[in-house]
Amino acid sequence: MKILVTGGAGFIGSHLTDRLLAEGHHVTVMDNLVTGNYQNIAHLVSNPRCEFIHHNVCNHIHMIGELDWVIHFASPASPIDYLNLSIETMKVNSLGTHNTLGVARAKSAKYLLASTSEVYGDPQVHPQPETYWGNVNPIGPRGVYDESKRFAEALTMAYHHKHGLDTRIVRIFNCYGPRLRINDGRVVSNFIAQALSQKAITIYGDGTQTRSFQYVSDLIEGIRLLMEVEHHLPVNIGNPEEFTVAELARLIKELTGSDSEIIYRSLPVDDPKRRLPDISKAKALLNWMPCIDLHSGLEKTIAWYQEELACSSTVAR
Ligand code: UDP
Repeated sequence: MKILVTGGAGFIGSHLTDRLLAEGHHVTVMDNLVTGNYQNIAHLVSNPRCEFIHHNVCNHIHMIGELDWVIHFASPASPIDYLNLSIETMKVNSLGTHNTLGVARAKSAKYLLASTSEVYGDPQVHPQPETYWGNVNPIGPRGVYDESKRFAEALTMAYHHKHGLDTRIVRIFNCYGPRLRINDGRVVSNFIAQALSQKAITIYGDGTQTRSFQYVSDLIEGIRLLMEVEHHLPVNIGNPEEFTVAELARLIKELTGSDSEIIYRSLPVDDPKRRLPDISKAKALLNWMPCIDLHSGLEKTIAWYQEELACSSTVAR
C-alpha cells in the first residue's frame, strides 16, 4: 500500500512508519519537525520505499500519485508543547485535519485520525468508555489541545457521513517508549531523565493523580489492527492498569537504582485527576490487549535513555 503518515518523524509516527515499512508498504513521511525529530527516521532514508517531505500540513498538501491511506499524526502532544505552541496546535488539528481529509478524499484513500484520551478532559466517569462525552474546559490552558482534537474527530466523522470517506479514529492514552524525547516534558520522560542524572524527581501535585501507561509497540499493534476493520467510531487504545504518579516515581527510582530525591511542585491547571481507558471495545472488535507490562516497558525505555544520554554527553565533550 502507499501510505502518507503526517507527523511521521514524531515519537509514535516514526514507530508506525517503521512498522509499515517492515510490512513492505510505501510510506511518505510528512513533518514540519516542530516537535518531530529527523533522527527518528534517519535510519529509513536509504529505504527506497520511504520518502520524507518537510511540510506543514496546515498549508495545502500536494501529493503526486495514488494513495491507499492517509494517517494523520501531526500535532504537538505533550502538555508543555501544546501550551507553548497553542495556536499551532489548534491549527494542525483543524486546518491540518481538513487538509489531510481533503487529500484522502481526492485520492479515494482511507483515513486514520490520531485522537487522544484528552477528549475526555478531567473525566467524571471512570474508566472511560468511548461513549463518554468527556469533561473538558474549553477555555482552560489544555483546551487548545482537547478542543482541537474534539473538532478533528467531529470533522473526520463529517467527512465519513457526508463524503463516505472510509475513516478510523484512535483515541490514544498515555504512551511511552524509545524516542519519547528526553525533554518532552511528559511524566515518564521527565522521571527517567531526572532519575538517571540524579536530579530531583518532580511530582506535580501530591502524586495521587492516576494514569495508565502503554508501551509504544502495544499501541502500534492496536493501530494496525484498527486499520484492518471497518469501524468508523472512536476506539480507545491504552493500557488498563492504573498507577498513581507517585507509584510511577517510586518504580522508576527503583529500576534506575537512582538516589534522586522526590520533590513536589504545583499541579498544572486542569490536570486530570484520574485517567484509565475502558478497552472493552478494542478487545471485542480487534481482539487486542496490551502485552507489555509497565515494569518491562520501563526497563526497555530506561535502556534507550541511558544510551541517548551517553551519546549526548560524548557529543558535548
Ligand atoms: N507529572 C508530574 N511530574 C512531571 C511531569 C508530569 O507529576 O515531571 C504529572 C502530570 O501533572 C500529570 C501526569 O504526571 O498528572 C501525566 O502527565 P503527562 O504530562 O505525562 O501527560 P498527561 O497525561 O497529563 O497528558
